[in-house]
Amino acid sequence: MIILKIGGSILTNKDSKMSEVNPTSLKRIASEIKASMDASPKQLIIVHGAGSFGHPPAKKHKIGEAFDESEYPQKRLGFCEIQNEVKKLNMYLCEAFIKEGIPVIAVPASGFITASNKRITSGNLDLFKNYLQKGFVPVIYGDVVLDDELEFCVISGDQLIQYLAKNLNPDQVVLGTDVDGVYDKNPKTHDDAMFFDKFTSLDDLDTFEGTTNVDVTGGMVGKIKELLYLADLGIESKIINAEVEDNIFKVLENKDVKGTIISRGN
Ligand code: ADP
Repeated sequence: MIILKIGGSILTNKDSKMSEVNPTSLKRIASEIKASMDASPKQLIIVHGAGSFGHPPAKKHKIGEAFDESEYPQKRLGFCEIQNEVKKLNMYLCEAFIKEGIPVIAVPASGFITASNKRITSGNLDLFKNYLQKGFVPVIYGDVVLDDELEFCVISGDQLIQYLAKNLNPDQVVLGTDVDGVYDKNPKTHDDAMFFDKFTSLDDLDTFEGTTNVDVTGGMVGKIKELLYLADLGIESKIINAEVEDNIFKVLENKDVKGTIISRGN
């Protein structure tokens, strides 16, 4: 079983204030996944980020922050707005994948996951197992969920990766993003950023910068934290650049791809 995350940065124009899908990369990624599924049978779960569909409304409605009781109706509507926006991106993705012949089935987190203080506390994954057994490719994505402390919160695709991997014990966990992997500082803003083939501790980061993007869920640092947690459980993951053509195909076929392995070993 492989859990593959496709970052919102690849699927959308994440810096944009508007919901904009990137149809070219969507189609390319779909065809790389299909080629790999044709090349060798595999169980695949896809997780995707929310990109420019989710982050601006999440920021606008300050979901996950404390609020006054009188604001409840407005917050609740904001929750609905975000859920609807991320659903749209998921619909574009599923449409492109089905066109390519990949049997994707959306399993939105807001439909079965709950959290406490922004961390997932429950979510029965039996349905995932059933869909996998029947040859489907389940797709889950960054979404809003009910939170028993904060009422509402946003759950990132990266936290979903962690939750799924912890509970389903996959053979491979891969995250595709728009940089080659982890550097000691943001490579988009620092020309001298140093690349890590292997990343074992947050102490290796030079600057603790989140991301260049409008991300309420933690950007690269948030991603690494989730993956180090998995590493503590003995589950290795790899961050690769999904903008580089064929990288997704190669990684799914266990071929060598430049990227950062997140693990606690040396
Ligand atoms: P995605 O949407 O693909 O999940 P994010 O936009 O959340 O990804 O995070 C990826 C971004 O994190 C990169 O585009 C990069 O600009 C930024 N970033 C910040 N710090 C680092 C770092 N130390 N190493 C790599 N990327 C970093």
